[in-house]
Amino acid sequence: MMKVIKNIGCLAQCKPDGTQADIHLLHKAAIVWQDDKIYWVGPQSQIPEGLAFDEELDADNKLVLPGLIDCHTHLAFGGWRQDEFEERLRGKSYLEIAERGGGIQATVQATRNASKAELSNKCRGFLEQMGRLGVTTVECKSGYGLSTEQELKLLEIYRELGQTQPLTIVPTFLGAHIVPQEYKKNRRLYIDLLINEMLPAVCERNLARFCDIFIEDTAFSTEEAREILNVAVKLGLKIKVHADQFGDNSGSLLAADLHAVSADHLEFISDGGISCLAQNSVVGVILPIASLYTRQKAVDARRLIDKKLKLAVATDFNPGSAPSFDLYLALMLACNLCGLTPAEAVKGATIYAAEALDLSDRLGSLEPGKLADFIIIDSADVNHWLYHFRPDTCLLAVKNGKIIYQRQE
Ligand SMILES: [Zn+2]
Repeated sequence: MMKVIKNIGCLAQCKPDGTQADIHLLHKAAIVWQDDKIYWVGPQSQIPEGLAFDEELDADNKLVLPGLIDCHTHLAFGGWRQDEFEERLRGKSYLEIAERGGGIQATVQATRNASKAELSNKCRGFLEQMGRLGVTTVECKSGYGLSTEQELKLLEIYRELGQTQPLTIVPTFLGAHIVPQEYKKNRRLYIDLLINEMLPAVCERNLARFCDIFIEDTAFSTEEAREILNVAVKLGLKIKVHADQFGDNSGSLLAADLHAVSADHLEFISDGGISCLAQNSVVGVILPIASLYTRQKAVDARRLIDKKLKLAVATDFNPGSAPSFDLYLALMLACNLCGLTPAEAVKGATIYAAEALDLSDRLGSLEPGKLADFIIIDSADVNHWLYHFRPDTCLLAVKNGKIIYQRQE
C-alpha cells in the first residue's frame, strides 16, 4: 500500500544531525509511505514520478511533525494525591511530605490495593487522551509496586497495553523508586531483593527495556545506585537515572560513568555533570511540569545546551509531582520556564526523545526507512503552536502508516 500526504505547509523532519535548534524545515512538502515505513520525504513539486497512490491525505497547509514521544512517565498508579497538592500549596515541601509517609509511599499502598484490571483500564484511558495530543510513543515506568509480584503486575500491564492499543509502549523497571515502608529499618534487605530476585524475574520474562533508579536523600544513594545498576547492565537492561532533582547528588556523574541512555530531571546538575553527560552522549531529559508543581527552580536549559548536551522534554506524569500527561503543556513550559525556543523543544519531544529511548533507528524523525509515524498540528509553524497554547491542536495522527486519531470538527 503506497500512500501520500500532500499540501504540508511546514514539515519539521527533526533529523538527528545539527544542534538542538535544527529541526530541518521543509515548506510545501509531502511524505510518501509504503505500508508502515516512509518511502520518500521532500518538496511536493519533487514527488518521484510513476508512483501510484492507494490513498492521498491533504494537510491543508498545516504543520506536520513526527509523532510526539513522551520519554518519561510513571503511567500505572493507584489513587491520586490531591490532598498533598493542597499541603504543598500551604507550604509543606515534597521531601517533608515524603518523610511522614506520604508521597510515593502513599501511592505504593494504593497501587498494591488496586487490581490489574483497574490499573490497566486507568492507563488505557490516559493513553487514549495522550493520543489525542499527538503523542504516539510513551515510556512507562513501574515503581509503585516495590515487591516482585507487584512490580511484575505493573510491567505485565504495560506489555498487554503495548499489544492492545495503538501507541508504542516502552517499559522501564523502576523497582528502585524508594525503599518501601516494610524495609525502612533494613534497606540492605530491599537492595538484595532488587538484585537477587526482582531484576532477574523482570529480565527472565523480558518485561523491561530499561532499568531506572531514583537517586535522592529519600530514595537511593549514588553508591547504592551504582551497585543496582551494574547488576541491571549485566542482565541486559539499558540504564536511566533520576538525577539531581532536589540537589546536586552526583546522579549525573554516575549516569555518565555507566553510559546511561538518559539522565532525567537535572534541576541542580553541576557544570561537571553537564560536561560528563555530553561527553558520554547521555541524553538529558527535562521535566518542567514537575518543576511547576513542586514550585522548585526549573532547569536552566540554555546552560545545558551551551555545553552541547542533547535535551529531551517529557511530562514525568505521576500522581505526586507531575499530575498531567500533557506533553504539549510540557513543551510550552520547556520554553517559558526553561528557556528553550519552540524549535529546540520540538526536537526534545521527537528525535532526542527517541534517542532517550534508544529507538532513534525507527522513530523520532521523518526520513525514508523510518516508521510512518507523524501528526498534523493546527498551526502554521512551531512558534505559533507553542505560543498560542490551546486545547485540541492535533488534527490527525498516523502510526505505523495508519490513521489512529482524527479530530472531530
Ligand atoms: Zn520520574
